[in-house]
Amino acid sequence: MTTCSNCGAEIPSGEEVKLIGRGGYTTTFIVCRNCESKWQDELDEETRDPNIAGAVLFGLGASIISIFVWSLLTLLTNYQLGIIAVGVGWIIARAVVLGAGNKRGKILQVMSIGLTLITMAISQDLVRHYYVDLVVSAQGINGIPLLLPLPDMFSIVVDSLAEDPVTVLFWAIAIFEAFKIPARRRLHKAKI
Ligand SMILES: [Zn+2]
Repeated sequence: MTTCSNCGAEIPSGEEVKLIGRGGYTTTFIVCRNCESKWQDELDEETRDPNIAGAVLFGLGASIISIFVWSLLTLLTNYQLGIIAVGVGWIIARAVVLGAGNKRGKILQVMSIGLTLITMAISQDLVRHYYVDLVVSAQGINGIPLLLPLPDMFSIVVDSLAEDPVTVLFWAIAIFEAFKIPARRRLHKAKI
């Protein structure tokens, strides 16, 4: 007779559910059907009725903070810290999940990815603007727009990424986090 590793109930033979722990190929544990369906319900509930307004609000907040921090750090250190991009994807996705009321799902994934991309593009553009400004003001010319139109911004970002493959990697990780963190969660069952 097996007992449930969650509630301790005895499980009739043949009704054991073997679950794989998070991130784990090593950890498996046996639970009863009640615990399985309770957890499944909780995970399903995570994708129900996300608070979209809250997600947008929190996501934008995280975005603005990220732009500020990234631009400031880059200007202070005089170095484009691609690794900060990783933090940008993480903080925005977390904020979106939190703002949605601890919800997950496709809409929140799309929102996180979009906000992450826009945030990183704006940050790079602000930094570019700062340096262009230095040069331009030294030459006595004015009138460079603070932010370029989005298509121009993205083409600048694409150009600078092409010159710097390591940054591409950081961007990829950031986008992966924005995709992964708000993703719907499932129980991973193993064959008994
Ligand atoms: Zn149980």
